[in-house]
Amino acid sequence: MLPFLKIMVKNLLKGPSTDPFPFAPAKTPKRFRGCASHDESKCILCGICKHVCAAGAIQMRAAEDGSGVEYVLWHNSCVFCGMCAHYCPTGAVTMTDNWHLSHLAEEKYTFCETSFVAFGECSQCGARIQPRPQVIVDQLGTRSPDRFLLCPKCKRESQVKHATDKNLIQLREQQ
Ligand code: SF4
Ligand code: SF4
Repeated sequence: MLPFLKIMVKNLLKGPSTDPFPFAPAKTPKRFRGCASHDESKCILCGICKHVCAAGAIQMRAAEDGSGVEYVLWHNSCVFCGMCAHYCPTGAVTMTDNWHLSHLAEEKYTFCETSFVAFGECSQCGARIQPRPQVIVDQLGTRSPDRFLLCPKCKRESQVKHATDKNLIQLREQQ
């Protein structure tokens, strides 16, 4: 009788060992792959995620007014391979532990995550460029953040000017 009481008290103190779901969030193992998710504030519109997605679950549609790109992630098409998250250079697309994928049949063609990524602006001439989110500038620790915010044409001009100034200084020093 005593051993039984011991086990009973121990189990009472330990609490239930079964999953509390649906009364509390279900526990998911570490590195569990649920829905992929897209964070537009980190996206630079490189398109790598779309390129590596074998299931065709990612679409990127240019806005008609040319102000940016609509990013659509279809949860029904996703096969949870994790390639998009693996290759995304900025961590904008990630695999979450959200496995709640059941939905009504009529939601079949709307069950997706949609976000909008606006194009950036060249800090010099105002031309449209790929987005340059501050979070990425901070992450990359780029040595010339000013140049990072330029369009290719202004960047070339800035590099030529920089090189010319450097050469002139060297020539003056040699004279
Ligand atoms: S996890 Fe795989 S299938 Fe799903 S969106 Fe990413 S690349 Fe596509
Ligand atoms: S989510 Fe990542 S890989 Fe996809 S376009 Fe944006 S930055 Fe590139």
